[in-house]
Amino acid sequence: MNHERSSLLFQQAKAAIPGGVNSPVRAFKSVGADPLFIKKASGSHIYDEDGNTFIDYVGSWGPMIVGHCHPDIIIAVQDTMTSGASFGAPTERETVLANLVIDAVPSIEMVRMVSSGTEATMSAIRLARGCTGRDKIIKFSGCYHGHSDSLLVKAGSGAATFGVPDSPGVPADFAKHTLTAEFNSLESVSALISTNKDAIACIIVEPVAGNMGTVPPREGFLEGLRDICTNEGIILIFDEVMSGFRVSYGGAQELYGVTPDMTTLGKIIGGGLPVGAFGGKREIMEKLSPSGGVYQAGTLSGNPLAMSAGIATLNILKQPGFYKTLEEKSRAVAEGIANAAKKAGYPIYSTRVGSMFCAFFSKSEVYDWPSASQCDTKAFASYFLGMLDEGVYLAPSQFETAFVSATHTSIDIDKTIEAAAKCFKMIA
Ligand SMILES: *Cc1c(COP(=O)(O)O)cnc(C)c1O
Repeated sequence: MNHERSSLLFQQAKAAIPGGVNSPVRAFKSVGADPLFIKKASGSHIYDEDGNTFIDYVGSWGPMIVGHCHPDIIIAVQDTMTSGASFGAPTERETVLANLVIDAVPSIEMVRMVSSGTEATMSAIRLARGCTGRDKIIKFSGCYHGHSDSLLVKAGSGAATFGVPDSPGVPADFAKHTLTAEFNSLESVSALISTNKDAIACIIVEPVAGNMGTVPPREGFLEGLRDICTNEGIILIFDEVMSGFRVSYGGAQELYGVTPDMTTLGKIIGGGLPVGAFGGKREIMEKLSPSGGVYQAGTLSGNPLAMSAGIATLNILKQPGFYKTLEEKSRAVAEGIANAAKKAGYPIYSTRVGSMFCAFFSKSEVYDWPSASQCDTKAFASYFLGMLDEGVYLAPSQFETAFVSATHTSIDIDKTIEAAAKCFKMIA
């Protein structure tokens, strides 16, 4: 497969843009290749600048659940554009999307729109701190909540009581307010709480962890977090930027029947345009400026084009049977890949929740960051490059989720499984 033009464009980009990309994982660094430059997409397929075609399981990292270039979304955005791209004043569309979100997500009684998932989590945490008068927060290692200072932190080894920044430029004085527990371990949470009594404002968690591969919550984990937060006066935040409208219409909270105090959203609710949102109980959300004192703002928040794309997307997702069909396709492809690996004598650990799935290059169960980090990332890189060569576009890292869209056909799925069978044979 020829990647000449992509490589040329990458060289040019590197002179103008740090690392040649506007978000690091796009650079293909962890698989040791140059990124493909994408020209266009349609349905389940993307097309690169060299004229190659791929079945797309990245879906812009989650938003494209109805497939690329859905006609309803194109029409909605085109119509809106002709009456003005942005006013910096209220529009009716913002209330329409707010009500769609409120009706869908169990924990959300009021919602504020922002322009990215990062903004949503950052603002939700500020509001949780403002409401409780507490400074510390708990997150889980391996969970990603965007790149704001307090959230670019993981644990040191053992039960960390002080956060260590993941990036230069994050002051240790900020990071020390971020405590890190292990995903699926209520014990690790209780230990942090007992040494930080009445000091923790919120616990933020991806209810289905999707940024260390796909790691489902073990039975009782989310329920346990709910109980701990209720007992300790801690605000429970589900970061559903990825899982919201993905694992079911009401998100992971609907799927597992556990209701947090606040929820952050993004990705799908923007239909491919830049959107984030955070919402929750009325008494919490009313503390937000201008009805309350916790400040938060955005020039392009509630942008008309983004609201139109979001409304059109949610109206497609609401159609009867949407998630059932998507579930069946997703099961077929995830199971097909796992079976192909088994047949090749190279068993993987396969996970899936709804249309999020992951092939972990591990022979044992993956349930948290330490177990995920044991995966054979070298073998994954060979698999990734092999799949690319076969016309299947996966995320270029072991620690990412694959996304299925409504436009993936059984032909796409059969091709994907055949490609995987070839690649596993090559690796085994
Ligand atoms: C993608 C993601 C974010 C960050 O959203 P951006 O729009 O990239 O800022 C936050 N949390 C989760 C769970 C995500 O998957």
